[in-house]
Amino acid sequence: MDINQIKALLFDMDGVLIDSMRYHTKSFLQAFRKYDVKIKEEKIYNLEGKEDIYIIKDILEQKNLENLDSKKIAKERREIFNQIERTKVFDGMPELLKKITKEYELSVVSGSTRRNLNNFVNKFYPNIFDCLVSGDDLSNQKPHPEPFEKCVKGVNIEKDEAIAIENAPLGVESVKNAELACIAVATYVQPQSLKEADIVFENHKELKAYLKNNFL
Ligand SMILES: [Mg+2]
Repeated sequence: MDINQIKALLFDMDGVLIDSMRYHTKSFLQAFRKYDVKIKEEKIYNLEGKEDIYIIKDILEQKNLENLDSKKIAKERREIFNQIERTKVFDGMPELLKKITKEYELSVVSGSTRRNLNNFVNKFYPNIFDCLVSGDDLSNQKPHPEPFEKCVKGVNIEKDEAIAIENAPLGVESVKNAELACIAVATYVQPQSLKEADIVFENHKELKAYLKNNFL
């Protein structure tokens, strides 16, 4: 990747812009508990980036429980999430992006619902992003390239003019499938599981330092 060519930064939301995944994870565990389905937290962290209904279907399939109603569990999971979430931003990210957006096109590419995406962007990152791609806008979810390809088209740039920032293995896979440069931050998983990215940071402190050095 040639930093001098970069015109756009494409941010994943959960785990990159907002610290929300622990509540998502809890809500999956709670929703499944009602049906006596036991899973480990890491399982959810490793499936991050997929829309919730597909995460639920994946897990039910692995457990040979396809007879359970995945739509119903997804609905209950969202209700639990809305009740328990205390989502915060990662310190300093809104202030930093507010400065970077003056010179660069900034976008969000998330598997989350349009409603969720709009809520969090309006609450924590207003007037920063040029293009928002949510799970509801897509026919194919991460790790498919569609989410990032759609965003590149949305801001009307070439692929080598963009960098995507992700925190989950399926997200990194989606970026690489879309043939874009990828920066990963190991918010919830081991850095090792993000090694397909061009650069891997261990935490937001390192990510912010990199963004400051290269885009301010
Ligand atoms: Mg994420």
